[in-house]
Amino acid sequence: MTGAQAGDRQLTVQSADLLKEIEAHSGELVRRCFQCDRCATGCPMVSYMQHTPNELFRLIQLGAREAVLSSNAFWFCVSCYTCSVRCPNDIDIAHVMDTLRELSLREGFAPALPQARDFHQIFLGCVRRGGRVSELELMARYNLKLKKPFARAALGWELLRKRRLELWPRRGRPKAGEGERSRRSLVMCFYPGCTLSSSARPYQRSLDWVWERLGIEIEELPGWTCCGATSAHALNRDLAYALPARNLAIAQELGSDLLVACSACYSRLKITQKALENPQTRERISRAIERPLDGRVQIKNILEVLSEHAPRIQKEKIKALEGLKVACYYGCLATRIPRVTGFDDREHPTMMERLVLAAGATAVEWPAKTSCCGASFSVISEEIALKMCSQILEMARRCRADVLVTSCPFCQYNLDWAQWTLSRKDGREPTIPVLFITQLVGLALGGSEKDLMLNSHLVGSEKITCRTQPTVNTR
Ligand code: SF4
Ligand code: SF4
Ligand code: SF4
Repeated sequence: MTGAQAGDRQLTVQSADLLKEIEAHSGELVRRCFQCDRCATGCPMVSYMQHTPNELFRLIQLGAREAVLSSNAFWFCVSCYTCSVRCPNDIDIAHVMDTLRELSLREGFAPALPQARDFHQIFLGCVRRGGRVSELELMARYNLKLKKPFARAALGWELLRKRRLELWPRRGRPKAGEGERSRRSLVMCFYPGCTLSSSARPYQRSLDWVWERLGIEIEELPGWTCCGATSAHALNRDLAYALPARNLAIAQELGSDLLVACSACYSRLKITQKALENPQTRERISRAIERPLDGRVQIKNILEVLSEHAPRIQKEKIKALEGLKVACYYGCLATRIPRVTGFDDREHPTMMERLVLAAGATAVEWPAKTSCCGASFSVISEEIALKMCSQILEMARRCRADVLVTSCPFCQYNLDWAQWTLSRKDGREPTIPVLFITQLVGLALGGSEKDLMLNSHLVGSEKITCRTQPTVNTR
């Protein structure tokens, strides 16, 4: 055997090892990648990455372990799933990015973004201690880790003033079996996620108001705990399945479907349910959470449930929003769930537009409705998140939208925060209020500013409320 042949053989063995390891851990067939480049073309973070997703996959196929695991690419991945749903070979690329991050840390490679690792570890520490995440505790611990105890103090004060930070969070970890097993059967339980009692309190308030106005009875899932959000799947695959699975198991015991408002929670619950279709995964996770899992719980997004009531909203609206130009912003997580269909369209959804029309306003056509706002980076890298938000806001302005409407608490906060921050940095006037869809629907149904907490956003919504007029359809 010549030296070159021996070298070739070594390379083949090495490449098979790395490829097998990554495929076994992620369950994704990276070998299928044929370098079509679609993942790189749609990736919003590609300019920060040393290797584009497809370059990284080529290196995996070649077995270049060191180059792959020391790359910064997976640290700069914002988990928007754009690549995963566009790959013609059905590779969940975002999930492979998670696998690479996990392997890289396990093998002792220095993280390219140490603050990202720190943030995720602190987040998971909060979940471990309390079952749910208090945003105030999370930020305080993260600031201490960075040795900047007063970082974002002005923002914190502003959020407290607007009643969007919870000083004494509700804890979610029940004692074994407490509460949930003794409950009667429920048709639909609501999974609020951690933000709805804190930075997204206006969402919870307007949601409660709209349910009551429409006569819909929904109860909170008893003993729910955090779904793990980005932090769990960024660092630990099984934890990322176990945390949502625990909530699915509670709903299963109650014989109830699950209504979810937060797009991040919705995405984690749906992804987990899909993963649990694999019998080995289901068995492993079921053992970890010590509860049976049958995969039958229906997970519904808030937009689906509200859409079922669109004809009533249209008929019973008592305030005219005529002429109000609304840009519907879905963000990246609600519609792009790999291998899960169900939303009306991944790239061009229209469910929210139909609700806006039912509420009497005008939905503008615009191209950024599923772009990623970089919410998972708003703490880790303010600069990146501001840049991503600015592009979306600029597009909304160019399309002459009066208001942005979303169903995701992270998107709402991020786009609101970005305008507030930019106005403090360079005096740019914040121009586009960002409302929750339930606030817009509530406004049309006659809710007051107070009912819907319309004055609690960082960008004021006066220019909307002063335009709404009673219609002839008064109750
Ligand atoms: S989209 Fe899929 S097949 Fe195409 S380059 Fe990316 S990973 Fe490979
Ligand atoms: S998930 Fe989004 S950020 Fe990550 S590689 Fe794919 S497209 Fe890029
Ligand atoms: S993703 Fe959902 S449950 Fe999880 S931290 Fe956010 S709000 Fe909490």
